[in-house]
Amino acid sequence: MPDRMRVWRLTAPGELRLEEVETPRPRDGELLVRVEVALTCGTDVKLWLRGHPKIPFPTILGHEYAGRVAAVGRGVRGFSEGDRVVALPTAPCGDCAYCLRRLENLCVHLFQATGFGGYSDYVLLPRHIVNRHAFPIPSGVSEEVAAFVEPLACVWHGASRIDLAGDRTVAFLGDGPIALLFVQLARLLGAGRTVLIGRHPRRLETARIVGADCVVDATHEPMEARVRELTDGLGADTVVECVGMPEAWHQAIALARRGGQILLFGGCEPGTEVCLDTARLHYDELDLRGGFHYTPSSARRAYEWICDGALRLGPLISERVPLIELPRALERVRRREVVKVAVRP
Ligand SMILES: [Zn+2]
Ligand SMILES: [Zn+2]
Repeated sequence: MPDRMRVWRLTAPGELRLEEVETPRPRDGELLVRVEVALTCGTDVKLWLRGHPKIPFPTILGHEYAGRVAAVGRGVRGFSEGDRVVALPTAPCGDCAYCLRRLENLCVHLFQATGFGGYSDYVLLPRHIVNRHAFPIPSGVSEEVAAFVEPLACVWHGASRIDLAGDRTVAFLGDGPIALLFVQLARLLGAGRTVLIGRHPRRLETARIVGADCVVDATHEPMEARVRELTDGLGADTVVECVGMPEAWHQAIALARRGGQILLFGGCEPGTEVCLDTARLHYDELDLRGGFHYTPSSARRAYEWICDGALRLGPLISERVPLIELPRALERVRRREVVKVAVRP
């Protein structure tokens, strides 16, 4: 293992720099992972351009990654040097007020010691992540596919807050990776019909490839009218918002039928607000829910799905680039020209 490694560090919005630092050595209970692949995510772009309410500057980027164990700290069980591993960037503490209520995704210590830094040569995993959120990659599963455990864990957590199965029309607002995972999960769980609504040709094409029953190009078609047409004028039974902008939250609510469920999944810019029609909320008895992050049980379930090869993840990787090209990759994600970029140190 080399003494020095490269790491992309973000010191302020827009200030992304490739630095060379000393390669860390794992202490007791820790694992050092040599990154084989890290996937871009909309959260990286938010963090890069405006910061993130949960992640203060300076920070290192990259939270969807997989690699090989490069060094093992004392006392770690279940991993040896050379093993392929996928890890999630956070793990709950297990004893705060939220963890004790089994709301581990809301753990107050979630972002204190993290395993961020997938856009580096190596990542050091803290002990609590090694214990709860590091998984061996089985043979037959590529690192690229394994790296989807993180977004899929988030999606499964969100999915567990709503009804997707049965004779329901489920509309997904957004055409990014989250919506493309959600639509596949909804089909796996037996949703009657899935409708994906977006504006970006390449991503809409991917939605067709991964099996959305109906794809609406909102640049050319009025989405509300299309959803009503598909539902005998009622609106969608369940709507999942996967954009993360107040306008989209507003739009998602408008797409739901009376008594419908709306999962507001995309995190918006801090300080933004959405104005609600009280009549719709009350007289139409809308069911609005948030969905954030993942729990150990949603992480485990996502890992099992990945091991089973239950989802089509290959089409979500639009291109592959070396570590040095991260800024260009993030720019492509920002412009929504790609679904995900695989960054390979
Ligand atoms: Zn992500
Ligand atoms: Zn906790």
